[in-house]
Amino acid sequence: MGRMLSAKCKQCRREGQKLFLKAERCNSPKCAMVKRNFPPGAHGAKGYPRLSGYGQQLREKQKVKRVYRILETPLANYFLKASKSKANTEEALLQLLEMRLDNVFYRMGFAKSRDLSRQIISHNHIFVNNKKVNIPSYQLRVGDIISLGADAGKKKLFSNLKEQIKNKESLSWLHLDPDKLEIKVTGKPTLAENKAEFDLKLVIEFYSK
Ligand code: SF4
Repeated sequence: MGRMLSAKCKQCRREGQKLFLKAERCNSPKCAMVKRNFPPGAHGAKGYPRLSGYGQQLREKQKVKRVYRILETPLANYFLKASKSKANTEEALLQLLEMRLDNVFYRMGFAKSRDLSRQIISHNHIFVNNKKVNIPSYQLRVGDIISLGADAGKKKLFSNLKEQIKNKESLSWLHLDPDKLEIKVTGKPTLAENKAEFDLKLVIEFYSK
């Protein structure tokens, strides 16, 4: 699996918005987007350049990769799959991204960042329908139940988890059971309720060329 090596805060500064890649720090005054809201590099102080149509599409595509912590090939493959689906391409792409196991685990507050979520999953701590799954990109389906296994309470990694998720609310397509430490996929995310930090239409335009 490839890794994104560019410093996380620099990735936010490059995109000109908070991408929430660093857990608690992102909501603190220490966030680099609070302290240095301009692009990284020698000419950064000039501010964010005006972008052409292509430039906007390119930046939006980069943003999606950075938010979901994926590389070029998987994102291009998601686009191909979405474009072949009978559903609206934008919604199909959103669902492919959002229904990744690492994203769902993060969205429900079980991990404080998507990077941490990937790490927990690849270290064999997660079950889907009572079977161990250690693939962060695993595509969930409606009806799947994600759990931590019977001895989760004894693991130091999860010792503070109930406190961590106590204020997390279920989504229309994800039901959280904070007592059982379980997430049930009850539907699929829709464009109407998408609160994502980017515009998938521009990403589709980029790949459609
Ligand atoms: Fe981005 Fe701020 Fe979080 Fe750094 S601290 S990753 S700049 S949101």
